[in-house]
Amino acid sequence: MINIQIQLCGLVFDLILIFFISRHESVGITSEKIFRQCLVVYTACIILDITSILAIEYKSILPAMLISFICKLYLVSLLVSCYFAFAYTYNTVTHLRKNERFKWGVLVLVVVGAILIMLTPVYYILDGSVAYSFGPAVKITYVFAPIFILSALFTTFIYGSQMNMHRRKAIRSWMIIEIVAAVIQFLVPQLLIVGFGSSIGLFILYSELENPEVYLDRVAGCFSKDTFKLYLGQEYGYRKRFSAIIVCNELDFKKDDEENKRIIVEMSEFLNSFSYAKLFRLNDNDFALIYDKHLHEMNEIESAVNLDVIRTRFKKTWGNSSYIKTKFLYVPDGDIVTSEDDFIDVYERNRFKFDKDEDLRTLDETTGQAIKEFRQMVLEVKDALETDRIEVFYQPIYSIETGKFVSAEALARIRGTDGKLIMPGKFIPVAEETGLIEAIGERVFSKTCKCIKEHDLKMKGIDYIEVNLSVAQCENPMLSSKYDEIMKLEEVHPGTINLEITESSTVNQKTVLLENMNNLMNMGCRFSLDDFGTGESNLDYIVNMPVNIVKFDRTMVQDYFTNSKAKVVMKATVGMIKDLGLKIVAEGVETQEQVEGIKDLGIDYIQGYVFSKPLSKHDFINFIETKNNVISSIDTPNMNIQNAS
Ligand code: C2E
Ligand code: CA
Ligand code: CA
Repeated sequence: MINIQIQLCGLVFDLILIFFISRHESVGITSEKIFRQCLVVYTACIILDITSILAIEYKSILPAMLISFICKLYLVSLLVSCYFAFAYTYNTVTHLRKNERFKWGVLVLVVVGAILIMLTPVYYILDGSVAYSFGPAVKITYVFAPIFILSALFTTFIYGSQMNMHRRKAIRSWMIIEIVAAVIQFLVPQLLIVGFGSSIGLFILYSELENPEVYLDRVAGCFSKDTFKLYLGQEYGYRKRFSAIIVCNELDFKKDDEENKRIIVEMSEFLNSFSYAKLFRLNDNDFALIYDKHLHEMNEIESAVNLDVIRTRFKKTWGNSSYIKTKFLYVPDGDIVTSEDDFIDVYERNRFKFDKDEDLRTLDETTGQAIKEFRQMVLEVKDALETDRIEVFYQPIYSIETGKFVSAEALARIRGTDGKLIMPGKFIPVAEETGLIEAIGERVFSKTCKCIKEHDLKMKGIDYIEVNLSVAQCENPMLSSKYDEIMKLEEVHPGTINLEITESSTVNQKTVLLENMNNLMNMGCRFSLDDFGTGESNLDYIVNMPVNIVKFDRTMVQDYFTNSKAKVVMKATVGMIKDLGLKIVAEGVETQEQVEGIKDLGIDYIQGYVFSKPLSKHDFINFIETKNNVISSIDTPNMNIQNAS
């Protein structure tokens, strides 16, 4: 028997790998693609190796030209397989395609090597049951092939920090096995173990890095969220165009719930049945279908048609006849953003923002633009906090009873680096979404306390300042102790503080909110209910929450003057609130006539542009020093009447 046993073992290894891999759908990630190509090239190489040995064995009946051609073909395939080993390694850190000159340089090297092999002679020996080739062509292979193998090895050192340890180790073991096998074969030419060494190397790579299972979600069987990120990274990296359907299920997936699993598996199988789309499972409950590969317009048409089919199916039951509420995000063109992180942000931000009856939201350039602005604003807020660019403006609040400005609301602004003001409408929602609102709230509170103390506001007729509390702050069990600390540090009496809460604080953690409120009230702080008239069950809330003041929202106040029914409702509401012993502030009063109307209603305080917009600290101090001392000079007829009466 001729010496092909080792190669046959290698071939069996390669065929087993091909069998396992061909059972799985390809994700289309570069490293996976090149690994598959490696496998094909390596297998071809080992087949050519065996063929060349057999050809040598039958040299008596085969033409010499043919034998040397087969031997050379084998040597070329060896060179090509070494190139693929390098391409695989290099692509795991940076894409060859992105570096065109380097890519062509490497390919030229392969071509030059192959031409030299084909042009130089190769000799072969048949010595009993041992056959092998040697001569100049073999030597050339031994010069060119190591260039690729050693470059691959060096890549794992040069770019080591960009590869995870796992990947680094696996690739290094692969290359070292190739080198050891080549050195042995070089020293003992009749021991033909290069092909076998490569197969072992590939096997290591397969089991450590390229097992298709690593791309899959264990429960659903489709691709996982990690793969989704890799895949999109590649789509954006190569500027490919794609469209996407994201299926957002209102399902509280729990790993040990059998029914949950059944539903996920069933949905996954259904969604996986669409050709041209790849299916990924996101965040336990959701799925994403990505359409690419063919013409961009075709993607859109295909996905739009599928979307209808999917929406229809999701109206029916899953698992043991469970109805699952599902909403859809549709992205006709992935180009709305430029990176996978942005895409995932777009998904996560929109996923929880469906309106009540909305079940399909199409995301377009506006969404992409919004995410860019959102990111910029997050940076702006962080920087403003760090470089102390959060400013507090104060909007005076007028007391109808005393005819003076007895309080003010503290309102946050960011002083842009260009000196211009950024209004809360722009940054508060961003801060709320990212949790930065807690830091802003604290900063505003602390600055307000400083202002109360520094300018002795009490002496200027300001009894208290209203400071807004965000939902996140209310739900933080540390709030009361933190604010206590700040008030002590700034030596401010808690009686000079009114904290504004909104009704949305009821949603979660009402117990924490109440605990915070009780603690702060025991210190002497009081509370106002902000934005009254914008929610639904407002009156219940007033009855249950220990607030002293109710602030009527601007829209409600404006409605009072324009809508006769609203007028009736507001009158009754004022009566009820007064009966509960609470005070009322009307916000957003803009004209003298409105001031009149508000007074007739029996409301206690007015806050609005009619008196003043929110003012910088300096302007606010000037304002109250002037107005509170010479209040009769305010040119509002009503106030003069008030003073006169
Ligand atoms: P808000 O708490 O309801 O504050 C009242 C808003 O109404 C202020 O807007 C004020 O300038 C505006 N306003 C007052 N009178 C009138 C009027 O006559 N006409 C009109 N058109 N508007 C009037 P601003 O300062 O832009 O603040 C907007 C919102 O941002 C605030 O609404 C509040 O929800 C939030 N905000 C501001 N500062 C803070 C803060 O420090 N913490 C938290 N959590 N939220 C804040
Ligand atoms: Ca407020
Ligand atoms: Ca308000």
